[in-house]
Amino acid sequence: MIPPARQKPVFRFAPSPNGRLHLGHALSALINADMAKAMEGRLLLRMEDIDIGRCTPEFETAIYNDLVWLGLAWEEPVRRQSEHLDEYLAALDELVARGLAYPAFMTRGEVRARAIRFEEKGKPWPRDPDGAPHYPEDDLFLPGSVRKERIAAGERHVWRLDMKKAIASTTAALTWTETGDGETGEISADPAAWGDVVLWRSDAPSSYHLSVTVDDAAQGVTHVVRGLDLFHATSVHRLLQTLLGLSAPRYHHHRLILGDDGRKLSKSQGDTALAELRKAGRTSEEIRRLVGL
Ligand code: GLU
Repeated sequence: MIPPARQKPVFRFAPSPNGRLHLGHALSALINADMAKAMEGRLLLRMEDIDIGRCTPEFETAIYNDLVWLGLAWEEPVRRQSEHLDEYLAALDELVARGLAYPAFMTRGEVRARAIRFEEKGKPWPRDPDGAPHYPEDDLFLPGSVRKERIAAGERHVWRLDMKKAIASTTAALTWTETGDGETGEISADPAAWGDVVLWRSDAPSSYHLSVTVDDAAQGVTHVVRGLDLFHATSVHRLLQTLLGLSAPRYHHHRLILGDDGRKLSKSQGDTALAELRKAGRTSEEIRRLVGL
């Protein structure tokens, strides 16, 4: 009997073309490439360009140049999130139809002000793992007719996940397999820590959480390799995967490269930009050493 063909592991590097790549991105891209090679897997590239206001074709071209210089080879075509809005919308529609997402009318500033008012009086207000205050429950209980009227009147709103209801609607064990540089093994997801996350907004349509979940499934990604800064976000991704009936990849959250100030590198820090290092005559082998590979 012929054994079934072994499915090759699928990795992806998923930068946002809203700035130049720095050493932190180089580490992530190189670990993806090294793991894909070691496991005879495939390496995909995804442009997370949903934020149309900040992403530009110039940054995208610069990313290709940096990655080629680093010695990376990826499969074509590159998936661009901006070309798949209909898929994210279909996922949102499904959650709305099941009563798991609702229109939320308060701005982030209003939520922050409410949280601070509470905290100043010594009353606690829940905050997510990134420190942002949870969305209050006000809009959860708005009657459908009021929601419709406010939307019809053009009131600005985003769509949020009804976290409590979403968690209650699934009986599946929310865990993931982690092999990265932090906690490893079978990790228990804690999506409730995030409160009612945004799924869809008017300006940068689909949210990171929704699009990354849909994309990883659509691209058949089996191994998500990314920075430890996204470790806790995986809880939300596992919940969305379960709600949408999508399979779970394995996760590897790697160490971050910190700047001299001990903080995560940002795209505006020129001296760690790969293009600058290249101009200064560094080689890709030196970049490997610089990021500790
Ligand atoms: N686009 C994200 C970033 O550039 C990465 C998202 C992911 O790997 O899941 O930070």
